[in-house]
Amino acid sequence: MDLPETQDPQPATALSIDARTWYVDVQFMGAAEYIATGVLDLPGGGLALVDPGPATALEGIEKGLGARGYALEDVRAVLLTHIHLDHAGATGTIAAPRPALDVYVHARGAPHVADPSRLLESARRLYGDQMDALWGEVRPVPEEQVHAIEDGDAVALGKGEEARRLRVAYTPGHATHHVSYLDEASGTAFAGDTAGQRTTGVDYVLPVTPPPDVDLPAWQDSLDTLRQMDPERLFCTHFGPHDDPEAHLDQMETRLRAWAEDVRDGFEEGADDEALATAFDEEKIRQIERHVPEVRRTPYVHFGRPRESWHGLARYWRTREEA
Ligand SMILES: [Zn+2]
Repeated sequence: MDLPETQDPQPATALSIDARTWYVDVQFMGAAEYIATGVLDLPGGGLALVDPGPATALEGIEKGLGARGYALEDVRAVLLTHIHLDHAGATGTIAAPRPALDVYVHARGAPHVADPSRLLESARRLYGDQMDALWGEVRPVPEEQVHAIEDGDAVALGKGEEARRLRVAYTPGHATHHVSYLDEASGTAFAGDTAGQRTTGVDYVLPVTPPPDVDLPAWQDSLDTLRQMDPERLFCTHFGPHDDPEAHLDQMETRLRAWAEDVRDGFEEGADDEALATAFDEEKIRQIERHVPEVRRTPYVHFGRPRESWHGLARYWRTREEA
């Protein structure tokens, strides 16, 4: 995957949310502003990571942690919003050599973190021979380090009464095992891909709807769940914090619905899937070009992949018709 040279060659790697909450730009494939790993300073020392990204970006994580004087040895916990490889691929590589490190993941995702073979099989169908270059090594997380979580759980990180509490909400739609975390200390809702893709400071939210899990009614409920959390800010893994949760979620809801309708209406044209996906992709890229400044477009166009989103939405409608 070649990237256009429109980006700052030395973007910041460690960025602040507040004094004890920050994030690392892992610089996936050398690209800035695509994968953001949330970092929480824990009382009593150590760090928690939210969505560490793939193993191919481990160097980026280490560089970002290093910018603040930390290393992977300081990581006490990894919290996953879901197990797609762009979010969770490095988890086993980080966790396996560190038996005291805890990994949190929704109960439906937990078995696949401990044994990624089925996950890798389905990813290979999607990514083919690009698989290894994109994601690198995917190691299993030792079972005793995996904590299966569910809607309504609270995760306490760090020692004593000062422990940092994160409330867990089940937020399916993008993936059937997706959760979001409300960090009570910072008021940040780590929303994974449920709130779509949007780069900090850019006013454009991109739905990310790849196959096979897309579920529109569930997604709608999840957007309401994020609203009910009443966070001070939303944090998208792609990419970064947003201080206008209500406007963001409204934009996501409206655009998700519009994209889904576009895909459904396209079926009536009777063209083949390839032609429909291409037309959809081109139209959405023109939309991105209208709303996103050129220097910040790479993550939307190269990784947001509206073409994949067409396939995810098409599958959703067809599966529903069959049922
Ligand atoms: Zn993602």
